[in-house]
Amino acid sequence: MDKSKRPVVIAGNWKMNKTPSEAKALIEELKPLVAGKTGCETVICVPYVDIAVAVEATKGTNIKVGAENVHFAESGAYTGEISAKMLTECGVEYVIIGHSERRQYFGETDTTVNQRVKAALMAGLKVILCIGEVKEQRLSGITDEVVSMQTKLDLEGIDAEQMKNVIIAYEPVWAIGTGLTATPEQADETCGVIRRTLSAMYGEALAQATVIQYGGSMNAGNAAELLAKLNVDGGLIGGASLKAHDFSVIVDAAQ
Ligand code: PEP
Repeated sequence: MDKSKRPVVIAGNWKMNKTPSEAKALIEELKPLVAGKTGCETVICVPYVDIAVAVEATKGTNIKVGAENVHFAESGAYTGEISAKMLTECGVEYVIIGHSERRQYFGETDTTVNQRVKAALMAGLKVILCIGEVKEQRLSGITDEVVSMQTKLDLEGIDAEQMKNVIIAYEPVWAIGTGLTATPEQADETCGVIRRTLSAMYGEALAQATVIQYGGSMNAGNAAELLAKLNVDGGLIGGASLKAHDFSVIVDAAQ
């Protein structure tokens, strides 16, 4: 399949930013800037407390709402956690799972990431699964092995039908929030490694149909070059998604 047949998905990851009133203001600013830009799917992944405001403010627009994490259990004694069913009932369509900040600060492992992916898909959410190497792994020349292993472990037990609702975000950890960006060639090459891993797991047709985003200091200035690469089908954007203009320039670049 050629790249142009795959959807392009531009997703913002707001992280722990924006109160509900600030969220509403940002969305109102963003709406006219991305209106009618149907050449990509535009998603904003917001803190739990902003979900209600975001769902309401994006009604009737081309902006979809996502969450930044989800728990793997359906319900129970998990104080402070949020289930997949809670998210879908609130109107959430997407969820980020396995972000490197969750892995680094909150003890997420490939096992718990895999459990969360399963729970999210079961509930009908679309998953943005984050994988990527840390700096030492890139410097040691083991990036390909690391992303391939994460892909296999995080998708263990997920079948081809479920994969229709999985997007993979390749996010080199050394590039997240650091201002360091993978070169377009590095991004393309490692997204290609992930695609080859998917091909070995599910066959070439599914690998060619899967959306693989790049994330890591993507911004208004570098998005076009990154998105032009054969294996890069969109972006997961942190810092630049908090500025309506910058995020909309990235959406424009994806058209
Ligand atoms: C992210 O949080 O997924 C991310 C890529 O952040 P940033 O764009 O700020 O590097």
